[in-house]
Amino acid sequence: MRKVIVAGNWKMNKTAKEAAEFFAEFKPLVADVKNAGIVIGVPFTALETATRETAGSNIKIAAENMNANDSGAYTGEVSPLMLKDLGVEYVILGHSERREYYGETDAIVNEKVKAALKHGLKPILCVGEKLEERENGTTEKVVEEQIVGGLKDVCAEKMANVVIAYEPVWAIGTGKTATPAQAQEVHAFIRNLLVKMYNAEVAENVTVQYGGSMNDANAAELITQKDIDGGLVGGASLIPEKFTVIVKAGDSAVK
Ligand code: PEP
Repeated sequence: MRKVIVAGNWKMNKTAKEAAEFFAEFKPLVADVKNAGIVIGVPFTALETATRETAGSNIKIAAENMNANDSGAYTGEVSPLMLKDLGVEYVILGHSERREYYGETDAIVNEKVKAALKHGLKPILCVGEKLEERENGTTEKVVEEQIVGGLKDVCAEKMANVVIAYEPVWAIGTGKTATPAQAQEVHAFIRNLLVKMYNAEVAENVTVQYGGSMNDANAAELITQKDIDGGLVGGASLIPEKFTVIVKAGDSAVK
């Protein structure tokens, strides 16, 4: 059985104080969640607060990016060692906003994925096509390139700690969600690709999340699709009650 994981991505939102307020409200709402993993990606400045406020709970904390190096002359950057030191467990890598605004290529994302795994952080590798790529029929080619590139030299054993998030770029922050059938089709493609890259066991066990305007109204229909193992949620993860509904949809979905 593979794990359903519902992860939030706050992006550049919430101060440390606002993060503390969020967790005070959110923690009791999800205290009874047993099956689904709950992860929240917060800005670097809120990581310490977030790990402290969620210590001993069923909520895990993610960073939204990191540098691949352990330390050194990389002004403004944050290393995997620094994240580990704060009790961070996951790191979102290759988000489309980082690819688009900060020039992250598959090669750069791959270095980060390998660095995360080396230090015992679990990468959430984001992949997904742009609108024009969907329209010109290259969705599978784009997703395959991003997965093959992002996971280069990552062995089957390490895949137990990797999460993949399929996030069609045209659905992120736009209110345009992929239909459950559209999302399931790409998730099945990803699962088959993992069989080819690794083996059936790895493919069966990797959590593949959907992201892109997932909300409290559409989460259950998406997460109950055969190959959709949870979500990576932007906007709706900022509001405790809304995110709780999505987490609970994940909690009752059996894979
Ligand atoms: C995201 O940032 O990964 C995302 C899916 O955002 P939203 O849910 O707001 O579309």
